[in-house]
Amino acid sequence: MTRQRLTVLGATGSIGVSTLDVVGRHPERYEVLALTGHSRIDVLAEQCIRHRPRFAVVGKVEDVPVLTNRLRAAGVATEVLSGPEALETVAALPEVDAVMAAIVGAAGLRPAIAAARAGKRLLLANKEALVMAGEVFMAEARKAGAVILPIDSEHNAVFQSLPATFGGDLAGCGVRRILLTASGGPFRTLPLDQFSAVTPAQACAHPNWVMGRKISVDSATMMNKGLEVIEAHWLFSAAADKIDVVIHPQSVIHSMVEYVDGSVLAQLGNPDMRTPIAHALAYPERIEAGVASLDLFQVAQLTFERPDLERFPCLGLAYQALRAGGNAPAVLNAANEIAVEAFLAGRLRFDRIGPVIETVLATVPQTAVPDLAAVLAADAAGRAAAATAVANGP
Ligand code: NDP
Ligand code: MG
Repeated sequence: MTRQRLTVLGATGSIGVSTLDVVGRHPERYEVLALTGHSRIDVLAEQCIRHRPRFAVVGKVEDVPVLTNRLRAAGVATEVLSGPEALETVAALPEVDAVMAAIVGAAGLRPAIAAARAGKRLLLANKEALVMAGEVFMAEARKAGAVILPIDSEHNAVFQSLPATFGGDLAGCGVRRILLTASGGPFRTLPLDQFSAVTPAQACAHPNWVMGRKISVDSATMMNKGLEVIEAHWLFSAAADKIDVVIHPQSVIHSMVEYVDGSVLAQLGNPDMRTPIAHALAYPERIEAGVASLDLFQVAQLTFERPDLERFPCLGLAYQALRAGGNAPAVLNAANEIAVEAFLAGRLRFDRIGPVIETVLATVPQTAVPDLAAVLAADAAGRAAAATAVANGP
């Protein structure tokens, strides 16, 4: 069997580490050609020593000799590069078959698009890239024949619940709607008058999933589900009114597809990202992921609730941005990144994240986003307006 050659963008993060865990279980199937990190040089060094990629990419040029020396001392010949252009280079290497896009936030957009343009099999975790640039992204992927496999557990579940022949026409496949499940995060039942006092440590302690800090805060505000609604729109050509959100605190059903005959297909499993990662790596085959069997007797109950938009205004704002179209999703995403960063740095109260994004959406003028330059302009405008809104007070 020829081995699949991989680039892992964001290897040092939560998804990156899980990806290398699955890859390490199947050395006969996968070869790591490039790994990228940003600031966690120690983690990247260990990963390079274990997987011996041809290239590694770090964020700062000063870290190139630091990592290089560490690797040479360990007898590893990996070439170390730095900066955003190097990310695009390793995402589009001619020898690479598949790219895991697991950089967090807008920083992941350009390398993910570079992989799409190069026609790679694209394992997409970086949902912000699709939220910002869905139209441009999907068009580039189509043009180059890049196959996009969703890593986000909900979208991976939807993908698994759609017919294998699905080519972008939901109605043609008899699909009535998509049901995205959401855990509701750590504050599903917290009294509303306590939202103003929520700390970053509380927001990052997710009941079911261990994730990076940014997506953990997004889960706590439910902006994560909002971004996922927009992500589903682009991945599955689904209009906003065909995507419903269902709170399911156990995170066992990862999402569902309802058909016109009343059938509802779901994908279930333990909440462990190695399942969707292994699915996308091996698709259409199946490989061992190191995930324990789902113990339904232990789970005992699956429960469902309607999302509360007063408690979670960010979810409503994401639907609003999706319906508005044009630059609105990119502006929403940018405002959210700035607001979350400010919250994590102690400069913004948790319950102000939603209002900041709402203000930004109301201030930045609507435009079309026909190309990447327009997407990046929308991102910059959203960031500037959000910085102003944050500066107006915690
Ligand atoms: P982490 O914060 O754990 O990891 C982020 C990765 O991106 C790290 O490798 C980090 O490098 C790198 N990175 C950060 N900033 C930059 C930058 N400016 N340039 C280049 N690289 C950068 O995030 P997660 O792994 O949790 O999430 C990654 C993506 O996957 C996100 O888009 C998230 O929404 C999505 N996702 C995550 C899930 C999860 O369970 N974690 C589930 C579904 C989707 P370093 O750490 O070295 O600084
Ligand atoms: Mg998800």
